[in-house]
Amino acid sequence: MQVFKLQTLLPKTLKVKLRIALFSIGFLPYFLILIYTHNLGEEKIIDDVLKTHYAQMSQVKKSVEEQFVSLQKEMRFLASLDIMNDMIVKDVDKRIAQLLIQKEQDLAMNLDLFTLDMSEQVISFSHHQKYNFKYNTSFQEALTHKKSYFFTRNSVVLFTPIYSSLESSEQLGYLLLNYSLLNLKSFTQHKEGIHSIIYHRNSQIEIGEKYKDIVLDITPIRGQSIDDSYLVLYEPFKGILDAWSLVYMIEKSVALAFLDSFIFFVWGLFGLGFVIIALISWWISKRILYPISKLSQATQSIISTQDYTTQVSVKSQGEISTLADDFNAMIRETNNAFEVLEKENKLRLLRFIQLINIFNQLIETQSEEACITIALDELKELMPHQKFSFSREYPTYKQSEKRLNYLMLYIKNFKKQSCDFYGVIHLEYTQELNDSYEYKFYRSIATMIMLQLDQIRLIEQTQEISRAKSNFISHMSHELRTPLHTILSSTQYLISYENLTEQQQEKIATVESSADHLLGMINDILDLAQIEAGKISATIIKISSDEVEKIIEEIISMLEVLAEQKNIAIRFENKIPKPIIVQVDIRLLKQIIINLLSNAIKFTHQGSIDLLLELHAQGLAIKIQDSGIGISPQNLSKLFDEFSQIKNQDTNQQKGSGLGLAISKKLSKLFDGDIILESEGEGCGTKAIVVLRRK
Ligand code: ADP
Repeated sequence: MQVFKLQTLLPKTLKVKLRIALFSIGFLPYFLILIYTHNLGEEKIIDDVLKTHYAQMSQVKKSVEEQFVSLQKEMRFLASLDIMNDMIVKDVDKRIAQLLIQKEQDLAMNLDLFTLDMSEQVISFSHHQKYNFKYNTSFQEALTHKKSYFFTRNSVVLFTPIYSSLESSEQLGYLLLNYSLLNLKSFTQHKEGIHSIIYHRNSQIEIGEKYKDIVLDITPIRGQSIDDSYLVLYEPFKGILDAWSLVYMIEKSVALAFLDSFIFFVWGLFGLGFVIIALISWWISKRILYPISKLSQATQSIISTQDYTTQVSVKSQGEISTLADDFNAMIRETNNAFEVLEKENKLRLLRFIQLINIFNQLIETQSEEACITIALDELKELMPHQKFSFSREYPTYKQSEKRLNYLMLYIKNFKKQSCDFYGVIHLEYTQELNDSYEYKFYRSIATMIMLQLDQIRLIEQTQEISRAKSNFISHMSHELRTPLHTILSSTQYLISYENLTEQQQEKIATVESSADHLLGMINDILDLAQIEAGKISATIIKISSDEVEKIIEEIISMLEVLAEQKNIAIRFENKIPKPIIVQVDIRLLKQIIINLLSNAIKFTHQGSIDLLLELHAQGLAIKIQDSGIGISPQNLSKLFDEFSQIKNQDTNQQKGSGLGLAISKKLSKLFDGDIILESEGEGCGTKAIVVLRRK
């Protein structure tokens, strides 16, 4: 499951982060005001509205209640007037009517005043038409309940008894006041967003205009209900109107009109603040980030140009300026470090080249003396103001100068498998070797000297051994050849003896052939030993290709007999268009061609042998191509090794020393020539090529 990371939403650059941070800090108060205005503000304002309107409602309620109280007072006063005594006398009723009319006008309300006699007949009234009293039942009921009022459909009727002024216990009738409920309308209001009505809680009669189609649910105690769009406040009346309540309906938008305008104002402020804070945060972030971005640009430029001399100038104070100073100091230090490093690298490279140079000089030397002389010369060239000296004596030095003053040389003792002290190179001034790298450099030179001394000594010893070996072999060969010659001459003498049986002749022939083979081998070994001992040296002369041709023809005529015995034809062709000059030792060249042609005859049983004289990249090539047994590729490379013979039926039959090719190769090298052997494989014949260098 992929975990959502908040960081992924955050901006990556410092600039944006800083701007957001400044922006957020700047906006925090606005957000708080907005939240406060939206939540706490609304509640508080509604509370205030409720309080104000409850106060207003109490006033209205009080006025209504007082109106009824004062009306009742008025009625009691009217009923107590003397004039009322005459009310039952028909002729004076007009005066009462006059009085009632006058009172109605005084009260300036929609009222009807009238009097009833005890038989509930209307005696007089405030209207010109005779009042038709239809509410006898309600009136009777009110009397029974000892109430001084009762309600009709559209009005409330207040009444008070009229007593005789002569006989106070004698009731003459009733004074009644028909109070139209429409009078109460003047206590209600119908303004924009605020409506009030007087409401009968049981019969739902409403006086005044209701706000929209609000369904009222009014309790007989003070209360309120708040909706999404309006507030309803209600207050019950006391006294005559105790079944009625005063109801206020206030449109919420009107109540919150102030809040709305305040919010509008805050939003305006918010917008303005947005622009101002955005500008301020942009400006501050720019001021803070400008030096940092300058530093960043400088870093980028240093990376791309590799110019460590760059310095940044930042017009700022405090931490940024310190940062810039530190940055510049760091770049300077880096530059210095680079310079030192570059210098050191150059020196190391120089030292490396010098080391190789000294090495090349040293490996050329062939004697210990030459090696030491060259080494000292090279060291002097490296340190002209240093003084070097070489001594074969073991130095006696103080402990303090032990390492630096001397380059000790040791040499391998190959016989004892150990290292012996050879000598010491003494340095007069040690200062230059204080640096450990320099010291290592000079030690490397000393190591090279020691390696070359070992090499020279090894070569000398090897040469010495080789010489001793060759001397021994040549001495032995000489010692062996003398008795062999005696054997050979004796066998030849015996063969010429006529009285020998066939069996005796065969035995003597075997002895002769064995001695002959032995002599051939001893001659080969002697030749090889002499070459290795450096006793055979070439007498190089320049001859033309025509002369080479003659030499070849001479050898062919010499060995033709052997080929004829095997019924093999030898052909020769000179393919050189124009004679050229080559350098050879004629004696050695002859020996080589005899060797190779003998091998070709020896290892060919049928077919022919072709000799060709051709031009070659280095001069001349004498090619001896036979159709004999051939050589496998894996054996080809080994044949120039001494005593190497290929094990097969043929070599078993053909006696040989396995030295012919090795001797021929070595001889060819003496006059800067070469021998190459080629074969397509066993049974495919062999091609031997003698290369002669052009002069
Ligand atoms: P060897 O005296 O035995 O001939 P060489 O050095 O002349 O000594 O030859 C070494 C071996 O090389 C031979 O024994 C033979 O196996 C092989 N060899 C030399 N020449 C030829 C040739 N022309 N054809 C086939 N094999 C040859």
